[in-house]
Amino acid sequence: MLFRLLSSVSRKASSVLFRAPVAMKPQVVFVLGGPGAGKGTQCAKIVETYGYTHLSAGDLLRAERARPDSKDGQLIESYIKEGKIVPVEITINLLRKAMEETMRQDQEKFRFLIDGFPRNEDNLQGWTSAMRERADVRFVLFFDCSNQVCIDRCLERGKSSGRTDDNRESLEKRIQTYLQSTRPIIDLYMKQGKVRTVDASRGVEEVFSDVRKVLDQEV
Ligand code: UDP
Ligand code: MG
Repeated sequence: MLFRLLSSVSRKASSVLFRAPVAMKPQVVFVLGGPGAGKGTQCAKIVETYGYTHLSAGDLLRAERARPDSKDGQLIESYIKEGKIVPVEITINLLRKAMEETMRQDQEKFRFLIDGFPRNEDNLQGWTSAMRERADVRFVLFFDCSNQVCIDRCLERGKSSGRTDDNRESLEKRIQTYLQSTRPIIDLYMKQGKVRTVDASRGVEEVFSDVRKVLDQEV
């Protein structure tokens, strides 16, 4: 009896060991840039060509806001409308769940584009304490364009996006938040040599051809 128990335990242990090298540590690319810089558009194109899973922090927050029994829905809405950054505990939980769920369904999906995060010091600290041991940040893909381009694109998008923050008033606040809180995070990664900058002021295909150059070098 005892022998059988022991041998079953050791069989389990060895099968876990055997599988261990296959379960890869998540490899993450942070995708940053101003509101409307084209992060979401370019991420969708990357997914078509490369084996990444796209997780937009903003989309995850909007989905959480829309969940009828979410306890954070109202808070999320007020932060988004004000162009402020939601407390990281909420965002990191959503990101972590989405990553775990993706890898649970298919353990080969361990490459992630995390779009629109980390946006401030609080986000970065939250990521570091929750995820430093669990995932590797490979680099930051930075979509660089002027504030005016950002504003024009978001106002254009606002005609059909239905987003409560694609209007002039929210946009001014989002741009301020971007300049004050997000740029310093990008600068921090720059000092570590981890930023790959793409000129995002051009058309979708031109920008994507530069994105490909970056990704092809990183593989
Ligand atoms: N947001 C946040 N934390 C995040 C990502 C987004 O609080 O990590 C909120 C923030 O209020 C932001 C809004 O969601 O202004 C919209 O973000 P999204 O990335 O969708 O906007 P985009 O930059 O793509 O226009
Ligand atoms: Mg977006």
